[in-house]
Amino acid sequence: MTNTTYTHSEDELIMVSALQHYAFCPRQCALIHVEQVWSESGLTAEGRIMHEKVHEQDRESRGNVRIEYGIPLRSLKLGLVGKADVVEFRRVSKDTWQPFPVEYKRGKPKLDHCDLIQLCAQALCLEEMLSVSVPNGAIFYGRTHRRLDVTFDVALRKETEEAAEQARKLIASGITPPPVYEKRCKRCSLIEECIPKPIGKKFSVKHYIKRAIDSP
Ligand code: SF4
Repeated sequence: MTNTTYTHSEDELIMVSALQHYAFCPRQCALIHVEQVWSESGLTAEGRIMHEKVHEQDRESRGNVRIEYGIPLRSLKLGLVGKADVVEFRRVSKDTWQPFPVEYKRGKPKLDHCDLIQLCAQALCLEEMLSVSVPNGAIFYGRTHRRLDVTFDVALRKETEEAAEQARKLIASGITPPPVYEKRCKRCSLIEECIPKPIGKKFSVKHYIKRAIDSP
């Protein structure tokens, strides 16, 4: 629940999305949030457009559920700032509404906790902002067209708080960790910018030529 002992100032806030990037790969987090590197592939464009469409929608009410889109988020306790795709406010009594965050993802559920951590961070922001508990949320996956229900249990909250702390330290250090080629690299949108494999591989050569041409 909400802790009123704030530990971060406004200028220390990092993006909620940085936690997802950090949990996926610390180097990817640093490339995006320290070096401001971003590569828009067909897949990331699809994801961006999906988020933009969600945020463009107006609020709506369906019975005992009020739906708000693109809600600004902030936690001074965790030092986070961002935006929730969707927050459903579910009526639990005449004047009480239970927030239920819903994050939209282009792909499908993953084995790692990256998406869960990002959603949990949204819940922790909502708890601090609204002084309520947020026990559950969901992730809607575009590829499966299904919602994955998520419970914000003690273990996930701890994992999220640790990711916030580690991502903050990494971003504050300004140092990008070296690449380590792993299975996850095949799913990484920054594989061409990162060069996780030794020079000599096809994509690395292509990248080096592109960098040489692009550099001032
Ligand atoms: S390509 Fe691999 S090492 Fe490089 S940022 Fe992506 S996941 Fe990390």
